[in-house]
Amino acid sequence: MAKKLYIETVGCQMNLLDSELVVAALRKDGYELVDTPGKADAILFNTCSVRQHAEDKIYSALGRLKHAKRQHPHKIIGVLGCMAQKDQELIFQRAPFVDLVVGPGQLHQVPQLLRELQVARAPRLEVSLDRAAGSRSAVEQSFESYDPLREAQMRPSPYQAYVRIMIGCDKFCTYCIVPKVRGPEQSRPPHEIEAEVRRLADEGCREVTLLGQTVNSYHFTVGERVWRLADLLGRLSDVAGIDRLKFVTNYPKDMTDDLLAAVRDLPKCSHYLHVPAQSGSNTVLKRMKRGYSVEEYREMLSRIRGTIPGAAVTSDFIVGFCGETDDDFALTMELVRESRFKNSFIFKYSPRPGTKGDELFADDVPEEVKRRRNNELLALQNEISFEDQQALVGRTFEVLVEGLSKMAARGAGHFHTEGASDAVQSTSGESESPATTDMAIKPPAANAGDLMQLTGRTMCDRITVFDAPRRLIGQLVEVSIFDATPFTLLGSVVTREAGPTVYQLAMPVR
Ligand code: SAM
Ligand code: SF4
Repeated sequence: MAKKLYIETVGCQMNLLDSELVVAALRKDGYELVDTPGKADAILFNTCSVRQHAEDKIYSALGRLKHAKRQHPHKIIGVLGCMAQKDQELIFQRAPFVDLVVGPGQLHQVPQLLRELQVARAPRLEVSLDRAAGSRSAVEQSFESYDPLREAQMRPSPYQAYVRIMIGCDKFCTYCIVPKVRGPEQSRPPHEIEAEVRRLADEGCREVTLLGQTVNSYHFTVGERVWRLADLLGRLSDVAGIDRLKFVTNYPKDMTDDLLAAVRDLPKCSHYLHVPAQSGSNTVLKRMKRGYSVEEYREMLSRIRGTIPGAAVTSDFIVGFCGETDDDFALTMELVRESRFKNSFIFKYSPRPGTKGDELFADDVPEEVKRRRNNELLALQNEISFEDQQALVGRTFEVLVEGLSKMAARGAGHFHTEGASDAVQSTSGESESPATTDMAIKPPAANAGDLMQLTGRTMCDRITVFDAPRRLIGQLVEVSIFDATPFTLLGSVVTREAGPTVYQLAMPVR
């Protein structure tokens, strides 16, 4: 009988990708996924340690399993990822029933470790070297890039995939635990990345997001040639079947002109750039050791806007970092007000043991002040996002259809209350619009032609929701926008071809 696997993932896109790869490897070993820990033989948590809150969530989830493990001692409980690398033995101390602790650089070992645990139970700890524990190359080797099989079922959509082009980080921002838990910065060879993208395209994937902590710092030397991100984008643009290329996360100082020109000139590159600013105050940026001033960030932003008009730029901000005054925060508000980011991810500073920030500076901004600043900045960003989204009403965008909207997935159906056919309007004479007949339209039940509320993204990464037949999932369609919220565009599919939808005609109900 198939062994059952439950996996829960916290954190960033890197973690989602890691989980996809772990599941793919375990499927080969005969595991199938289940949706609750209760049904599982192996329960894995792929964890994050960027903020305390993410760790607390995992420790409470583990706490809830204590009783289950006592009743079903055969269940294997494992903690994977960044918190595993950071806390190591501490996890066994806090949750002694955990069987397995595996850092992000050792995930390739998970299938073998599970096999061994089935034979003999003894807690297993597999982590990479601490950054100070050996030579750079020894530490690098202990963080293996894990990029084996792909598992389309673990992705939010089979038409989109993450592809890792780098691991680790060498920037050492003083607040950040990533360089410690994900190890030294290492770029992957371009031919390996291309081979993975080709495989994904063969499987039907249409959009690839390249991942790296500072993705625009990518560089790999092959003979005399240094490959940068701009070169890689050019190479991947030639892969047939892939329609869109995105990349996250960018480091402001490495946003070079050649990269911006590549994004502008390569038709498959999404006009979307996530470039975290973190703060609008030079004093704070310096304490964060971000390596740029707010003037340099502004200059970079104006180069983006000058080179790629209409590009959507998004950012991250930390509020309440050590020593942040009201004046510092006012400068962050000013930067957000003038920069018109598509959206910003805003975080309250969370001190991370093991970082320079935690060692050197006091976490002296009271929680209450952090919360207030967080809310103020969020309110300002939402206002801007709403205004800028409203300005798009009436325009038409190409959208890659990802799947059912959240509402449709929950079974709530359409957002249109009147005439589902409104969702399919025509710009040609080939419309199948029912408006020309006084017969009521009754679509056939549960087939690919039924109108559902679907979701997708524009070239600028704007989430768009519209009614359309299911068979459009995975396709690029034109959507005309009729309304907008701060985060979602509402639209109607513009059909140039009516497609094979079959409608049943029935007499109108009187
Ligand atoms: N590599 C990316 C970068 O350089 O922006 C992102 C790394 S981190 C996973 C994502 C975001 O978490 C950061 O941009 C930062 O805003 C936030 N973050 C990192 N450490 C934090 C901390 N100690 N407290 C609060 N937010 C933090
Ligand atoms: Fe963390 Fe800074 Fe590296 Fe981003 S660039 S992962 S914030 S150390």
